[in-house]
Amino acid sequence: MADPTLKIAVLPGDGIGPEVTAPALAVLGQVQDLVGGFQLEFTEWAAGAGCYGDTGIALPAKTLDACRQADAILLAAMGLPSVRTPEGTEITPQIDLRIHLGLYAGVRPVRSLPGLPPILANPNAAKLDFVLIRESTEGLFASKDRGVVLNDAVATETLVLTRATTERLFDFGLRLARKRKAQGHPGLCTCVDKANVFSAFAFMRRIFDERAEAFPDVQRGYSYVDAAALDMVRKPWTFDVMVTENMFGDILSDLGAGLMGGMGMAPSADIGDMHGLFQPCHGTAPDIAGQGKANPTAMILSAAMMLDWLGDTRNLPACHRAAALIVDAVDAAYAGGELLPFELGGSADTSAITHVVQSKIAMAAAA
Ligand code: ATP
Repeated sequence: MADPTLKIAVLPGDGIGPEVTAPALAVLGQVQDLVGGFQLEFTEWAAGAGCYGDTGIALPAKTLDACRQADAILLAAMGLPSVRTPEGTEITPQIDLRIHLGLYAGVRPVRSLPGLPPILANPNAAKLDFVLIRESTEGLFASKDRGVVLNDAVATETLVLTRATTERLFDFGLRLARKRKAQGHPGLCTCVDKANVFSAFAFMRRIFDERAEAFPDVQRGYSYVDAAALDMVRKPWTFDVMVTENMFGDILSDLGAGLMGGMGMAPSADIGDMHGLFQPCHGTAPDIAGQGKANPTAMILSAAMMLDWLGDTRNLPACHRAAALIVDAVDAAYAGGELLPFELGGSADTSAITHVVQSKIAMAAAA
């Protein structure tokens, strides 16, 4: 029987987006050939600030359609400070995509890679491994394009939390904590909110408690977002799965990326009930675009998350094997301590990092 073909919609976007997309596609092609058992069919689609500049549309209908039809979406980064809407905000079709496709669970794993210089002095920080789940379709971002500025004197934005999405979000986080417990993690799910001040967050916390009743094996944690930020610096190794609102998650996931060494190290996935989109945590980094300095690690690890998700949702163990090959190769690439990306003060450029990761994959496959 022929290997199943998986259609991947590829959206390279703007700035360093295309620069980190090419390495991720090369690595995906390599593990596909080595592992076998599945075929990835990549098709590139336009969206982003460049597309808006050319056509006046940031997310063309045919790109959105292709994303709906695809088995998975691989997106690099979109938006440029120089390309703005008439209201003065940046072009952000990646946020619109999350809403159109119902990608409510933004999964941001924070894991310290062996061999990289420590960000925190405490030795426990060398063993960081937790996952931040950022709700990605509502919260304060529900106000995007709807904010009001009255008479140049008062500006308002409205935060929205719906019961339906909040229930699905906590179910996702609690299921993940249960799965991680089976893999040896503590099995702790922490609700990160501001329930002491806002009724929306008291509502969110109540829903967390309701949903957690069905997960007696998962330990419950509670943290106000300000205290969570403090603890992510003071003792981040105490977290397992953190679940939070969209804006809080936006901020805390950059803090998480910082704990990994920089934006170029941090992968992510936006998951809904029907679709999965995989994208590094970083943006388009216009300050380094075109210089070959972008770290492709986050994009490569996001591609591995895509394979894992395809393995789960399409019941394809070969995809899991291919994902593990990538993750192990990234770890092996950094483990020796010689490979240091620009953002960590080193001089390893995009092609050097890609080359080392690809050789580690080849070595592991040959062993
Ligand atoms: P957005 O709001 O769109 O997520 P941002 O404002 O958080 O984007 P980034 O584009 O992620 O900003 O850039 C933040 C900093 O991290 C910049 O200094 C940028 O150069 C750096 N950075 C981001 N991605 C990478 C990468 N892949 N490799 C190296 N440095 C990066």
